[in-house]
This record gives sequence, C-alpha cells and structure tokens, in this order.
Amino acid sequence: MARFSIFGGDNSRRIAEADSVVVIGLGRFGSSLARELMARGTDVLGIDSDEELVQAHNGELTQVVRADSTKEEALRQLAVDEFDRVVVAIGSDIQASILTCSVLLGMGVPIIWAKAVDDRHGLILEQLGVHHVIYPEKDMGRKVAHLVRGAALDYIEVDAGYALVKASAPSSLFGKRLGDTGIRKEYGVTIAAFKRDAEAWKNADADTVLGPGDTILVVGPTANSENFAQLR
Ligand code: ATP
Repeated sequence: MARFSIFGGDNSRRIAEADSVVVIGLGRFGSSLARELMARGTDVLGIDSDEELVQAHNGELTQVVRADSTKEEALRQLAVDEFDRVVVAIGSDIQASILTCSVLLGMGVPIIWAKAVDDRHGLILEQLGVHHVIYPEKDMGRKVAHLVRGAALDYIEVDAGYALVKASAPSSLFGKRLGDTGIRKEYGVTIAAFKRDAEAWKNADADTVLGPGDTILVVGPTANSENFAQLR
C-alpha cells in the first residue's frame, strides 16, 4: 500500500516516509531503477512529462504523475522537496537535466542522484552540487569490457583500481585449505566468498577448501583480481 499520497485526504499534504524515492524521468534507465526500487519495497513517486510513459507506469509505481520537472511550482505541488532522495534520470535532454537539478538543489533536497550522458554533462552536474553523479552507459561499457576480456563471470570496480570479480575456482586450489595456498602473497588477492552448486554463498576463510565447479568472489587491485580470474 502507498505510504505517501500526493493527492491525500486534504489534497495539500503528503507524507514522505524514509523509504520513499522520487524518480524523475521514466525512460529506460529511470523505469528500470523505479521498478527495482519497488521490487525491493521502496515507495516511488515517478514523474515524467510524457503522458504515455506516465500511463505505462500507472499501477506499477506507488504514484506516477505527469509534470515538467524544470518548473519549481510543479515540483513543489508534488511536495518533492519533502522527500530525502530524488533521482534525476533524464539524460539526452541535458538542458532539462541541469534545470531540474538546479531546481531540486534550490529547494534543498538533501540527496540528489543524477544520470550524466557524458563527462561534460557530469562535470556540470558536479559543479552545480549534485550529490551523486552516475554514468550508466560509461560504467556499463567499462564493466562489459572487463567481462569480454577475460574469464570473469561478473565484475564490479568498487573504486578506481580496486575490484570484486566473480569467477570459477581455479583447479590449482582444489583440495587445499585456502590458508595453505599463499594466494594473497602470490597474487595479491583475497577470496572473499564461494558458492557450491545450488547452495547459498558462504564467506571463505583459511579453512575453506574449494573444488571443481565452485564459484568464487575475488577481491583486490583490479589487475590482480582480473589476472587471478583467468587462472584455470
Ligand atoms: P533513457 O536512456 O533512460 O531511456 P535518456 O537518457 O534518453 O533516457 P531522456 O530521453 O532525455 O533520457 O529522458 C528520460 C525521460 O525523462 C523521458 O521519458 C522524458 O520524457 C523525461 N523528461 C525529459 N525532460 C523532462 C522534464 N522536463 N520533466 C519531466 N520529465 C522529463
């Protein structure tokens, strides 16, 4: 059930609970983000200027409204300033993205996430004071490059130069206690967790013994983690 209502009983108040997020722009990125938030139990107020998209998301999000987010009055009417977190998922229309962020910052929204289509767009958003600037296309491109290059099954660069890589356990480790393999010294990585068949992921420790078919999570400097993931 909705935990906030922009068109509530007296038509002027609504409650923005802690676990509510406003998503402005319901294109491919914003839509996927909003649906995932809903799936995880977070209420979402979706805003888009396109009536068709608003209709398409009706019933899927806690509330969906058609509005022009570059207009402060429109956002105030929707009480967007009472939410703690707003995501601006407008990309191609850079002007609309910048104007929207500027309005949100002026209204004092505490945490603003905004999508940038390129570095110049991102720089402007950062200079404006947007708290979190994200680069979905650039980041996904980098991630896929790492997956295409090597044997990694999944890859997350936690920060520049440090990565978490999901890979198959190399046969050289089979049957040995991890504590006896010396992989930290030899490869500069740590095996943080492992998964066997349909079992759940488990934390790895010095007594963990890996076997054929096991999947591991390797943590360490990007190059080391990637090199380790290539081992067979
Ligand atoms: P994606 O790749 O996520 O599909 P995109 O990067 O191409 O999107 P845009 O098409 O610029 O980004 O914007 C995404 C959504 O934001 C669109 O559905 C668009 O209707 C909406 N949008 C753009 N400008 C505004 C605005 N001023 N107010 C409200 N919504 C807007």
